[in-house]
Amino acid sequence: LVQRMRAFGTTIFTEMSALAVRTGAVNLGQGFPDTDGPAEMLAAAADALRSGQNQYPPLPGIAPLRAAVAEHQRRFWGLSYDPDGEVVVTAGATEAVAAALLGLCEAGDEVVCFEPYYDSYAASIALAGAVRRPVTLRPAADGRYVFDPDELRAAFGPRTRLVLLNSPHNPTGKVFTADELALVAELCQEYDTYAVTDEVYEHLVYTDSATPHLPLAGLPGMAERTLRVSSAGKTFSCTGWKVGWASGPAALVSAVQRVKQFLTFVNGAPLQPAVAVALALPDSYFDNFRAAHQARRDQLSAGLADAGFDVLAAEGTYFVTTDISALGGRDGIEFCRTLPERCGVVAIPSQVFYDDVDAGRRLVRFAFCKRPEVLTEAVSRLRTLR
Ligand code: PMP
Ligand code: GLN
Repeated sequence: LVQRMRAFGTTIFTEMSALAVRTGAVNLGQGFPDTDGPAEMLAAAADALRSGQNQYPPLPGIAPLRAAVAEHQRRFWGLSYDPDGEVVVTAGATEAVAAALLGLCEAGDEVVCFEPYYDSYAASIALAGAVRRPVTLRPAADGRYVFDPDELRAAFGPRTRLVLLNSPHNPTGKVFTADELALVAELCQEYDTYAVTDEVYEHLVYTDSATPHLPLAGLPGMAERTLRVSSAGKTFSCTGWKVGWASGPAALVSAVQRVKQFLTFVNGAPLQPAVAVALALPDSYFDNFRAAHQARRDQLSAGLADAGFDVLAAEGTYFVTTDISALGGRDGIEFCRTLPERCGVVAIPSQVFYDDVDAGRRLVRFAFCKRPEVLTEAVSRLRTLR
């Protein structure tokens, strides 16, 4: 195994989902829904399969999907992209982020990101030969995560190539505010860097969030330097489909496409038309989707608090994080490895998403993208910890 990959073992999601299967625990670890996405989308995929849309789609993705991606971003975020040249379909957001890093970073270039960070970021930065410059998010007194603006300023320098920003943020559930994004935008312009934004949770911002979802690309001076990434997995409850996309200035999209053609070339032929159908669903689909997840967040957050956890605010995403200190937990990894045998539940230690391990040592992430009865069962098991 090459040196640059040696630090990366089996992903925490693989380890913890295997543990859930082995022990029969309720899996609130890996974030995947336990119900299917919209019926119209599933029917469209079945139709596409049966009508022979099973060969290689075009490299940038089929035209109807690129048009739907552009139209969706216009409808919800007021962003304007040309489906021909400013949108590329990828094998999930994961490939879009990886191809962006591989296509934009020279060896030794620096990538500013916020920690805890989604696990593929560190590996993809390493594959690109780049260096990560994490800025730590810390829980404030009100339970929301914040960063120190001076730390962010200090992370930028002459070698900064891009900032990789995930909002709504996994695993914290943080939604970056207008002021926070304005500082990111100011620094990107001062240091003349790109931004790659991972917005896979764009439709999961809850009504009590301090801020709505604000794409960085919508800030003054940012459209021309931002590559915006999202995917169907979360918004349409089809994480196994791996249909994602990147949109941005033609030069950035073309950098992604240059790399992507040698990673997967293309993917998901019969799924692409189905995702185009889903993106065009009426606003009511997206409203109901958010409301359903907000109810699950509330149910799990209350249950965790009742079970004795310190529960941090989740303004968005599939996830809520807890501090295990109140339950006597000292180390999240140890806590999560023994949780299935102690009470039959699987969770994710947030610590694995930090370079500054101490900052995340006692934080544990629970996924609430599950049916209410599953959350009820998980909570009743967790209550036995007290
Ligand atoms: N980014 C974030 C922040 C995620 O949580 C995930 C995982 N669901 C992904 C990217 C991966 O998305 P995809 O499955 O579309 O590759
Ligand atoms: N994004 C999912 C999560 O954070 C996991 C995806 C994966 O297993 N790679 O739970």
